[in-house]
Amino acid sequence: MLKGSVAVFDTNAMTFCSLFTLSFSLSLSLFIQAETEAIIKVADPNSKYTSAQTFDELGLSAELLQGLYTEMKFEKPSKIQAETLPMILTPPHRNLIAQAHNGSGKTTCFTLGILSRVNVNEPGTQGLMICPTRELVIQNVGVMQRMGKYTNISIASTADPKYDGYNKEQINGQVVIGTPGRLLRWMREKQLDCSKVNCLVFDEADNMLGTDGHRVDSTKILKHLQMSAKNWQVLLFSATFNEAVKTFATKVVPNANQIFLPAHELSLDVIKQYRVNVQSNDQKDMLLKEKIFPLCDKIGQTIIFVRTREGARRLHASMQRDGFKCTAIEGQMQNEDRDRVIKEFRDGQTKILIATDVLSRGLDVSTVTLVINYDMPVEYQNPSVPNFETYLHRIGRSGRFGKKGAAFNLLLGENERLVLDQIERHFEHMVPEVTLNDDDTFESILTAAGLMSPDES
Ligand code: ADP
Ligand code: MG
Repeated sequence: MLKGSVAVFDTNAMTFCSLFTLSFSLSLSLFIQAETEAIIKVADPNSKYTSAQTFDELGLSAELLQGLYTEMKFEKPSKIQAETLPMILTPPHRNLIAQAHNGSGKTTCFTLGILSRVNVNEPGTQGLMICPTRELVIQNVGVMQRMGKYTNISIASTADPKYDGYNKEQINGQVVIGTPGRLLRWMREKQLDCSKVNCLVFDEADNMLGTDGHRVDSTKILKHLQMSAKNWQVLLFSATFNEAVKTFATKVVPNANQIFLPAHELSLDVIKQYRVNVQSNDQKDMLLKEKIFPLCDKIGQTIIFVRTREGARRLHASMQRDGFKCTAIEGQMQNEDRDRVIKEFRDGQTKILIATDVLSRGLDVSTVTLVINYDMPVEYQNPSVPNFETYLHRIGRSGRFGKKGAAFNLLLGENERLVLDQIERHFEHMVPEVTLNDDDTFESILTAAGLMSPDES
């Protein structure tokens, strides 16, 4: 309905500014509307699941409800929570493959799934959550600790420094959260006993099961559970599932309830996206240093994505040289440094974070209002092939849970321009151009995106 009413306007005749004001006023409704267009397939047509209007009607324990209301301060379930929680929590606890937009609250779905199945009086690992990066492990441990605050359920994780090195200590958490390589080692070394696991979660599941991700390790983990556990539910969650990984997922996670979004629903209208053509890398730096950051007095926090570790280091040095306080994170850094950089960013001590794609997925910092694609997201082996999923995940670091967000794509040369053209076509979503030297348009766009205070004069 909303889409129909937007079509009434002659958008070509509108200025950028009015278009963006219109988009913003509609953005929250579109966010909510987009969530309703999922295709839901229920494994057993005789199972009836009723979407939940409140957390109270889900049959959760008093301790978990207290965690949700008092600690998390959630009032009611988001759309994906309303749809999936009844499926996750209702016996016979069917497997679930679920896709929902970035920032729509997926973590709550599977965290409650795991916590609700743990018997706190029973020692041993009952829930297992696998995440692609150390940063996501730490974040999801934090969410589970808060949501489960009143339950006394114990949580262990691969990011805990006490398990660093090669000690052979037994892992005793009733829930274990980790990256796949380390978890597998714990399983092989018999440090982690999976015989009581009743719920297995893959966050960022398309990446966990993709050939360009962690498919090998994830398959081994699934096999290990087949050998050791008796009766367990698998929950796969992500904002993106391409066709290939969807097919694979439905094969390795059989008889699953499924929720998928149609491709055109993935464009995330809430995040305003722009393209800026530049002539050199120096111009990219200049755009950041002389336009975006000086003008944007209302940016909360920014993540700048670059393609390589070297790129991250170079841009970091360049920004620092000109007095911009920022930090950088890439996968080769020491764990302590990675942890410190993320903590400082989360605490708001640093406003600008330069990152490789190690951070493109999952990070939830609600004050991030701006994402900059300094380099476009492309396939690692072939820089002329766009990585559509990564684009969506990167821009989805802003605009969390329906908040405002903006993304700039800085395009140098024909290749980067073509990459963004393909991304536009793939998501059926136009990304308008802002001319580098057109200060007036630039400022009106920054203002409309909520990044700059309106000119008082
Ligand atoms: P994603 O779907 O991308 O994994 P997250 O689970 O990280 O999203 O949630 C995004 C943000 O929304 C988090 O900060 C989370 O605390 C918040 N959130 C999730 N569910 C609710 C809710 N029901 N009410 C209010 N805020 C919520
Ligand atoms: Mg997430």
